[in-house]
Amino acid sequence: MTILFSNPDCLHHNPGPGHPERPERLQAVLAALDHPDFAALVRRLSPAATAEQITRVHDAGHVLALLENVPKSGTVRVDADTVMSPGSGDAALRAAGAAVAAVDAVMKGEAANAFCAVRPPGHHAEPDRAMGFCLFNSIAVGAAHAEAVHGVARIAIVDFDVHHGNGTQTMTAGRPNWLYASTHQYPYYPGTGSVRERGEYNNVVNAPLNAGAGRAEFRAAFEEAILPALDRFRPELLMISAGFDAHRSDPLAAIDLDEDDFAWATEALVGVAKRHSGGRIVSLLEGGYDLTALASSAAAHVRVLMAA
Ligand SMILES: [Zn+2]
Repeated sequence: MTILFSNPDCLHHNPGPGHPERPERLQAVLAALDHPDFAALVRRLSPAATAEQITRVHDAGHVLALLENVPKSGTVRVDADTVMSPGSGDAALRAAGAAVAAVDAVMKGEAANAFCAVRPPGHHAEPDRAMGFCLFNSIAVGAAHAEAVHGVARIAIVDFDVHHGNGTQTMTAGRPNWLYASTHQYPYYPGTGSVRERGEYNNVVNAPLNAGAGRAEFRAAFEEAILPALDRFRPELLMISAGFDAHRSDPLAAIDLDEDDFAWATEALVGVAKRHSGGRIVSLLEGGYDLTALASSAAAHVRVLMAA
């Protein structure tokens, strides 16, 4: 069984006209998941994450300041390309809360896996800084919750968004019981993600892809770097930063993947979860900026999760 977590509040974060991280992204994903193929999805509203949950990975002063900075009207810029509107605080709290609720559901055995259709994305958010369209690092909030509340000893976060998840890497680097593994275009935004960045505990696995790379390079990165690292680590919970901006139609990057590649990667990760994690997977939407490609890629991803 697969649970879909989302919340209408995630539509009310609006960085403004022309911004690629727009509410229509989530509407497109939810519309695709309204197809009869997805009737078996169990749909739940995500709660708002609490301060206690968020401050496991973010500095308390930063969280307070960010939420106090949410504008009453208009927009506020918090980073070169990160903008908050009046609905942004609630959206970010629901996005992080989805990760927490999905971890709870999967760890209690209510479902084998869960997909969180939320925005804003989170993987660029650093402990003390919002950046790259991201306010709170939702997947890290979920991982920290799994560790603190469910006593999960080994948590792997696999990130196939086309951008490197610098924030998640920072949060993982000093935590020996987390593993962060990423494929991403490199060199590219945000500049991190070299193979030489390995974490304090050898618990970061970066598998960078050159601009123009496609199916063969992506699958080789999984087969040669990411899947072997996951098998060595033997995660008790597998989490996925599911960004779909490595699709060839995506306007922000230059990697040549399609829906079949995201389905293939998801299948491979389901295999890892079945070998080591009792099948437990929590996946969160990160990027993906071509609405058609985003919707069909997220649908392909969820279809594999539902069949797991
Ligand atoms: Zn991205």
